[in-house]
Amino acid sequence: MTLAETPNHENSHNSFLTLNYEPALASLGNDYYDEVMAAEFPQHILRWRNDALLPLLGLDTQAVTDEDFITTFGKFHGRKPLLALRYHGYQFGEYNPNLGDGRGFLYGQVRGTDGELYDFGTKGSGKTPYSRGGDGMLTLKGGVREVLAAEALHQLGVRTSRCLTMIETGLSLWRGDEPSPTRSSVMVRMNRSHIRFGTFERLHYLQRPDLSQKLLDHVIEYYYRHLLGQKDQYVLFYGELVQRVAELAAQWMAAGFCHAVLNTDNMSITGESFDYGPYAFIPTYDPSFTAAYFDYYRRYCYGHQPSICQLNLEMFQEPLKAIIDKAAMETGLAKFNKYYQAEYRSLMLKKLGFAQLQCAEADDLVNLTTQFLQDSQVGYHQFFYEMARTFSPEWRDEPALVLKNSDIVPASGASNLFDNWCVLYHKLLNNFDPEQMDVISQTLTDCNPQTVLLRPVIESIWEPITQEDNWQPFYELIRKIQSRS
Ligand code: AMP
Ligand code: MG
Repeated sequence: MTLAETPNHENSHNSFLTLNYEPALASLGNDYYDEVMAAEFPQHILRWRNDALLPLLGLDTQAVTDEDFITTFGKFHGRKPLLALRYHGYQFGEYNPNLGDGRGFLYGQVRGTDGELYDFGTKGSGKTPYSRGGDGMLTLKGGVREVLAAEALHQLGVRTSRCLTMIETGLSLWRGDEPSPTRSSVMVRMNRSHIRFGTFERLHYLQRPDLSQKLLDHVIEYYYRHLLGQKDQYVLFYGELVQRVAELAAQWMAAGFCHAVLNTDNMSITGESFDYGPYAFIPTYDPSFTAAYFDYYRRYCYGHQPSICQLNLEMFQEPLKAIIDKAAMETGLAKFNKYYQAEYRSLMLKKLGFAQLQCAEADDLVNLTTQFLQDSQVGYHQFFYEMARTFSPEWRDEPALVLKNSDIVPASGASNLFDNWCVLYHKLLNNFDPEQMDVISQTLTDCNPQTVLLRPVIESIWEPITQEDNWQPFYELIRKIQSRS
C-alpha cells in the first residue's frame, strides 16, 4: 500500500486509507498509464455516498464518515500514484488514437469481500495528458445521471459498475449540451477493471505485441482466474468474453436500456457495463430509439446494441490475433447469437413472470410480447409493471381476464395482437398448478419495479436541485431504486 508521504491525523483515521490497496495495474509498469495529479477544488460537498457498497469493501457503514469520503475522493489526500490509463478506441466507427483517461484516473484497486478486484475510477478529477481541449471536469448533472443509471441497472440485474460517491466541487462549467454555466462534480466509480477493448487497440496500433501479451496475461490472472494455466487459456478467454458481452447486451435489451455510446473505449474487458453519459431508458419498445443527440445515423440505437457488441468483439480480434488464433476466435464469436438469445429469452420470460418455462411456445410468447409492445407503443416499463400490479390467479380462467384490471389500453391497430397475446398468456399460465400462481406473481413483482429511470423522472429530480438546491427528491428516487419499489 502506498500511503501519503506525510501521514497526518486526517489520514490515519480515514476508513478508505485502511483498505488494502493492491497495485495490480501499477505493477504492469508505466507503458500503460501516466501518473497524474488531481485537481484542487474550491468546494467539496458530499452529495452521494453509496453505503450499500461499503460491506463489499469490508467497511462498517457506521464507521465511515462523510469526511472520509471527502478527503479521499474530493481532496484525494493520502494515495499515490494516481494513474491516467492509456487507451485508444473506435468512436462511431472511426479509429481515434487520441484518447485515454482525459478527466479521470485510477485511484486504487481493492479486493472485495467477494474475492474480486475492484477499481476506484474517478470522473471529473482534473486534466491529464489525454484531456486534449477538455477541462477534465464532470458536470454535476452528469454525475447525478451516472449515479442513477448504475444503481437502476444494478437493481435490474445488469452486470454493471456502480458509483461509490459523488462530490460537488464548486466550479462553473460551460457545456454545449447543458444550460451553462453549470455545476461541477467528481464521481467515483467502482467496477471490475477499467481495461477496455481500446486498451489493447492502442498497443496494437503502437505495434507492441509484447505489451499486449503482458496485459492479456494480467487480465486472465485477475479477471479470468479460473482459466489461468489451462492449455487453451487465450482462446477460452476470448470465448468467455463473447459470452459475457452477449449476455450484457441481452441484459440491456430486457431492461429497456440504451447505453448510447458503445465505442470500443467504453467496452470493458470484463464484459461489465460502465460509463453512462447520454444513455436513456426507452419509453416504448422502438428498436430505432437513439439516446445520444450526436448519434446522427442511429449507430448506437436501442435495437442495434446486440449487433454493435458483436461487431466490437469482431474488431477486437485484430489486436488479439498476435496472441490468439484467428480461426479459434471466429469459432468463439459464432456463439454470440446463441448466448444472446438464451439470456434475452430467459430475462424476458422472467419479466413475464416465468422463471421456469420449458416449452416451444415460450419463444412465441417473447416474440409476441415485443411485437405487441412495438405495434401498440404501450409504455415498455408500464406494461410489465401493470402485469405485476394487477396479476391475478383468475387469469388462468379465461383469456379475457388477463390484464383486465390494468391501465393497458392497446391502440385500435394493435388490439388483435393484444387479444392473441392474452390467449397465449392464458394458455401458458395453465401449464402451472394453481399453487404456483404466487411464485409467478412474486417473479413479476421482483423483475418489474414501478420506479423507472425515464428521462422525465431524471429531469423531475434535477429541477429541484438546480432551482433550490433541494436534494431530497434525488435521495428519495435512489431509495426507491435501491428498494426495487
Ligand atoms: P467518454 O465520452 O466519457 O467516454 O470520453 C471519451 C474521451 O473524451 C475520453 O478520452 C475522455 O477522457 C475524454 N473526455 C470527455 N470529456 C472530457 C473533459 N471534460 N475533459 C477532458 N477529457 C474529456
Ligand atoms: Mg468513456
